[in-house]
Amino acid sequence: MGPLEIAEAAMRGLTRSEAVELFSEDFMSLAQAAELVTLKLWGDSVTFVNNIVINYSNICVAKCPICAFYRPPRHPEGYTRSAEEVAKAVEEAKERLGITELHINGGFNPELSIEYFEELFRAVKARAPGVAIKGPTMAEVDYYSRLWRMSWREVLERFKAAGLNAISGGGAEIFAEEVRKVVSPYKLSGEDWLRIAELAHKLGIPSNATMLYGHVERPEHVVDHIFKVKELQEGTGGLLSFIPVKYSPYNTELYAKGVVRAPAPAVYDVKVVAVARLILLDRVKVAAYWTSTGKRIASLLLKAGANDLVGTMYNEAVLRSAGMAASTTVEELAEIAREAGRRPALRDTFHKVLKWL
Ligand code: SF4
Repeated sequence: MGPLEIAEAAMRGLTRSEAVELFSEDFMSLAQAAELVTLKLWGDSVTFVNNIVINYSNICVAKCPICAFYRPPRHPEGYTRSAEEVAKAVEEAKERLGITELHINGGFNPELSIEYFEELFRAVKARAPGVAIKGPTMAEVDYYSRLWRMSWREVLERFKAAGLNAISGGGAEIFAEEVRKVVSPYKLSGEDWLRIAELAHKLGIPSNATMLYGHVERPEHVVDHIFKVKELQEGTGGLLSFIPVKYSPYNTELYAKGVVRAPAPAVYDVKVVAVARLILLDRVKVAAYWTSTGKRIASLLLKAGANDLVGTMYNEAVLRSAGMAASTTVEELAEIAREAGRRPALRDTFHKVLKWL
């Protein structure tokens, strides 16, 4: 099919099987169709937030075969940041880099109490007022609620009361259980991820939704995942963006066992993002997650249905170093958007435009 034909079919509403069939189309046609749909429904803006990313702890008992980040308890490389340490880094990032968001996640650390998180959120709010906290994923909420013998609702309410403003969308992986069994067997089910998201939205805590692709999934899993994201958004309206995350297999168990030998090709990145837009239409923004694809592919994704670049994603190493070579800048992201023929805008965590660039 040509791009116009695909775009028209998408605007009429795709069935799941039609969406799966799109993966057999030429990637250029898909990209063009998704771009047509995006320009029609969303206009030509591309947004992103100025934020810092901090991991509170890399200690985790979930042992996901996809993960290169975690260290088991008592590992010499394990760490947990204190509330003071995190708050100080956020304060500095606000002053030096003008960030408006803290993105904070971590592993399933059995040593942590709910008071640890409450103290951390309160310390950030005290030292960096005005900075939004986008924190623990549905997967973390599920793990800690079981650890602390609390309900999801109690955990979410206490996090919110302590200062949590939004939930980052991780831990969604691919919702289909046959895939989760391979990539994250000890994490919450896809169904529970969606139930916690629904509850959080009802409690006034919006969230993102991610999808980790490029491992063992097939197009039907991707399509099923995106339809579930669409249904969630139609039910609650609490999603801020949909973020397809490209899987990097290196230093993971899946790579060591030869299950995944290399990152997915760029053509597949384009197809995933384009199909996401063609299914999601105007329901929610689709992100080009440059930290997982690299900036060059991210710029291409802005021509294939994506209309958000997530954020500057400064890390602590950037604050410590004199330069910022390891990360990006507001201006660099704006330039990526302009090169794709889009109007860049700095937004806040809740997607309100703060400034056109
Ligand atoms: S829960 Fe998160 S940090 Fe822990 S192993 Fe899985 S992906 Fe890694």
